[in-house]
Amino acid sequence: MDIQFLGTGAGQPSKARNVSSLALKLLDEINEVWLFDCGEGMQNRILETTIRPRKVSKIFITHLHGDHIFGLPGFLSSRAFQANEEQTDLDIYGPQGIKSFVLTSLRVSGSRLPYRIHFHEFDQDSLGKILETDKFTVYAEELDHTIFCVGYRVMQKDLEGTLDAERLKAAGVPFGPLFGKIKNGQDVVLEDGTEIKAADYISAPRPGKIITILGDTRKANASVRLAVNADVLVHESTYGKGDEKIARNHGHSTNMQAAQVAAEAGAKRLLLNHISARFLSKDISQLKKDAATVFENVHVVKDLEEVEI
Ligand SMILES: [Zn+2]
Repeated sequence: MDIQFLGTGAGQPSKARNVSSLALKLLDEINEVWLFDCGEGMQNRILETTIRPRKVSKIFITHLHGDHIFGLPGFLSSRAFQANEEQTDLDIYGPQGIKSFVLTSLRVSGSRLPYRIHFHEFDQDSLGKILETDKFTVYAEELDHTIFCVGYRVMQKDLEGTLDAERLKAAGVPFGPLFGKIKNGQDVVLEDGTEIKAADYISAPRPGKIITILGDTRKANASVRLAVNADVLVHESTYGKGDEKIARNHGHSTNMQAAQVAAEAGAKRLLLNHISARFLSKDISQLKKDAATVFENVHVVKDLEEVEI
């Protein structure tokens, strides 16, 4: 499981940073890629990765500001141009209005898609668990921005323990149906009377990963709730230390506030994105250094950077 950043800048693109978009690559888990926000130009960034648009099965939008959605119609249209590949349906989750934005853009531009889009819109009253599959559950909560904006908590379900086939063989269990029984937790007795206890050969279940991806926000209690015990928290850092007042006025956070959220939530790792173009590279190291005084495991991400979870 990896996160690849397709745009890490705030508000407008700069030479170094495109506007907001990231890909949660779940290829090993479910052979799918989920996108979070689609700022303009994100499809050009995708061209520089190994991500195949057809693998993108779900898109989650945090809010309707242009720097988070203007890349969506373009991406959806390009995704259709894979004529020799199977056309697979797509789910879009986001605030009320996202459906009208997408359908209007497609209609007035005369774009026809050879696949279906299923829209899942929500408002203040319909948040909470927005998706559950056999492997993942996704929750959304309202953050504190200048328009309705949400954060997402993606929870992988616990992974079953695995069977230690080598040790079973060594214990004299013939390969075949007995393996299946033991895998299902059943104790078995071998022909020579040896008792095999399934629990001795199955590793303990592993806890699933928790990934928290927030939209634009002031420091908010909802952010902390979404990030409780997260393996990774992706938090905006539009401003730096000392800019708390201006951050508040514009509906954003500083690096210090993001670090406080990570610390309060007991997250394991903090990735800062939505970085203002005002910051030069020496400022970026300062952003990290300052945040690290509050939460040590912090990193300011770059476009195209890939982070393993
Ligand atoms: Zn915004």
